[in-house]
Amino acid sequence: MAEPSPDAPSGEIDERPGARELRAWYRGRATLYPWRRGIRDPYRILVCEFMAQQTQAARVVGAFDAWIERFPTVRVLADASPADVLRAWQGLGYNRCAIALHRAARTIVADHGGRVPGDVDVLRSLPGVGPYTAAAVASIAFGVPVVAMDTNIRRVAARVLRGAEPDELSPARLRADAQAWLDPSDPGAWNQAVMDVGAALCRPRSPRCGECPLQAVCAFRATGRRGRSSVRPQPAFEGSFRQVRGALVRELSRSGPRSLPELAAQLGEGSARLAEAADHLIRDGLVERTPSGELRLRE
Ligand code: SF4
Repeated sequence: MAEPSPDAPSGEIDERPGARELRAWYRGRATLYPWRRGIRDPYRILVCEFMAQQTQAARVVGAFDAWIERFPTVRVLADASPADVLRAWQGLGYNRCAIALHRAARTIVADHGGRVPGDVDVLRSLPGVGPYTAAAVASIAFGVPVVAMDTNIRRVAARVLRGAEPDELSPARLRADAQAWLDPSDPGAWNQAVMDVGAALCRPRSPRCGECPLQAVCAFRATGRRGRSSVRPQPAFEGSFRQVRGALVRELSRSGPRSLPELAAQLGEGSARLAEAADHLIRDGLVERTPSGELRLRE
């Protein structure tokens, strides 16, 4: 870790490289998104973390308020039908996330008295909650001093603390560094601030170091590195099986029960591919067959 900042106020020695600058930079961003404003409601934090799993923050902003209006508490969400949840989720990417959030809400009501748990291990036992989401909810909503290792924090921590790209370090080393760097007095704000640096400035290619609050302490910048020359391309969504699944759920959320031939004609998709997509969605609990064999969102 770096030497204490020379301009730290007396009595307060900050051993976290760049902590003062990072906090000052984040202050202006702390109310950027609706889930950051007001009280730290664990349910709201849980919802926004699920929404952000596959969707950019800008799109989550519009959907978040509508979701909270429709499902203001974890109990209201738990009481809703899967079909209602899927309809409300449209436009937010992976429908499986919506079903997992719904199941998590039902587990919270059934096993935790309707209160989102604050313990990381208990959070991880909820449907759809992985190590990142558990740490994000625990730190932001409950102030648990645990680093929420997403790709942005991984990249920023590796670059600032070790002058390296994250895949040049062992995961255990990187986690230990990032955890030691975390500000335990406000871990939620710290996690969000480092994530924001990663998303807004410290991009995989061409990081914007000249605007970065961490530039004075960043080992990566000090060594003159400039990021990756190329980034692995994302698999194409257009024409993918995921696109067929998404189109099927979207269509069913707009209409009532529909037969497979009707859906194939409406979506311009081959019956065999559509039937396979329907089987997957039924297995995942998003769609069901009516007694007459039509498809509909699970009620
Ligand atoms: S100074 Fe540059 S490399 Fe270092 S954290 Fe900031 S943007 Fe990333």
